[in-house]
Amino acid sequence: MALLEVTDLDASYGAIEALSGVSLRVEPGEIVAILGANGAGKTTLLRTLTGLHRAKSGKVLLDGQDITRTPAHDVVGMGFGHVPEGRRVFAALEVDTNLTMGGYLSRKDTAALAQRRQQVYELFPRLAERRDQLAGTLSGGEQQMLAIGRALMNAPRFLALDEPSLGLSPLFTRNIFKIVRQIRDQGTAVLLVEQNARQALRLADRAYVLETGRVALEGPAAELAADPRVKAAYLGGS
Ligand code: ATP
Repeated sequence: MALLEVTDLDASYGAIEALSGVSLRVEPGEIVAILGANGAGKTTLLRTLTGLHRAKSGKVLLDGQDITRTPAHDVVGMGFGHVPEGRRVFAALEVDTNLTMGGYLSRKDTAALAQRRQQVYELFPRLAERRDQLAGTLSGGEQQMLAIGRALMNAPRFLALDEPSLGLSPLFTRNIFKIVRQIRDQGTAVLLVEQNARQALRLADRAYVLETGRVALEGPAAELAADPRVKAAYLGGS
């Protein structure tokens, strides 16, 4: 059974149709990329999957359980982590406190929290060095690391990332992508929304291309990377 199974999902903002009949799946152990131009519906897709935006119709199953109408805070409790676009760390709080707040589901289990914090710091040594620094004073790349680390504090089975490379230097981008692979290797499946199609296709196992709210193409990442339509529209024609 797929870890995430999305069938015929429709979502809109008033009269504007943002998603039409989107179907996709993520298997355990996979990294699946969602590609698409500005306004294609990628963010709306993630927000609808996580319960931040209400689906008009269609179905979302997490590990066989229907979460289509489950509110966002309950979805997190079911093992679905979400790193939204724009990072949104708690700027006025220290790095370490941001992580503690991320682990609120296990707040009574201090041993589990301490262990996960340790794992996050091992994944992101840079955060460990800055654990007492206010999150708002971190660089953009470090804030992205913190946003991911915070989501990992709930030990999700499944993690959705919205444009983790947005605004980052090439060096930070490579670093973040390397860490996404490590997260997958540690047993968390990943759904990755990216505008950086070239690198996303290198990292992902499979990918879906969204165009005006519909799945236009899908397949193994290597096949999509070689597809002339993908090359022309998303890989700068090379
Ligand atoms: P980007 O990469 O720019 O974030 P995206 O692929 O994530 O783009 P969405 O943000 O999901 O695309 O937008 C999909 C469509 O829904 C667009 O036509 C957009 O204008 C519209 N839309 C998004 N948010 C709203 C909103 N709050 N109110 C009305 N329309 C919206």
